[in-house]
Amino acid sequence: MTSDPPPGPLGILGGTFDPPHHGHLALARSVGERLGLERVWLIPAAWPPHKPPYAITPFPLRAAMIQAAIEGDPRLGVSLIEQDTNGPSFSIDTLERLAASEAKGRRLYFIIGSDAFADLPSWHRFAELPRLASLVVVSRIGQARPTRIDELMRRHFPEFAPVADGRWQAADKNDLLHLNLPVAGISSTEVRDLARRGEDLSGLVPAPVAELIARRRLYTGQAGP
Ligand code: ATP
Ligand code: MG
Repeated sequence: MTSDPPPGPLGILGGTFDPPHHGHLALARSVGERLGLERVWLIPAAWPPHKPPYAITPFPLRAAMIQAAIEGDPRLGVSLIEQDTNGPSFSIDTLERLAASEAKGRRLYFIIGSDAFADLPSWHRFAELPRLASLVVVSRIGQARPTRIDELMRRHFPEFAPVADGRWQAADKNDLLHLNLPVAGISSTEVRDLARRGEDLSGLVPAPVAELIARRRLYTGQAGP
């Protein structure tokens, strides 16, 4: 009789994904590969707490764009766990819920870009994140102005000590990691701006995502059913 292998480590990439783009996908894939993760889940926020008050695309459409973006790639998945949150979706709450449900028993790696990491102190209960997951901070190779990750790690997580290049540890907590990876310098803001002007999105988002944006006239100020 065979038994199922134990569930492998999971990467978690939260975001607004309005829309998802090749930068997100490259980030998820390269972290997954570097850390040997079984899969990386993209988790769209229902009500992003950090976003300026522009009209965010409705959750079901952002979820559909993520599904279209990851279609056919077994290394990537999507979780709609934040769908029903009433109020801002805080990462710490999502991790607690994941650890108690869909991701029970799995090692979790919570992935954030270095831009988001710099803002971490504004996150709800950010200091508790390493209790639930290893935090993986990713800088883009060749980034024009690389964020001073070492200094930020010291400031955000003073109880952690550096143990190796790009790794920090503290008793009874998951490690903090810093990776330099070749991810594209794309942002959703840039994609929305190009879509508003009716420009070509190929190269920035997967073709099925570009098709959805065109069909639903997203970001043009005249989105319809
Ligand atoms: P916006 O322009 O609206 O802020 P965004 O492109 O930054 O959107 P988010 O949904 O805010 O996308 O990002 C989700 C996560 O993906 C964050 O941790 C962010 O740091 C990371 N990320 C976004 N774009 C890139 C990229 N090009 N390379 C690496 N990481 C990225
Ligand atoms: Mg952003």
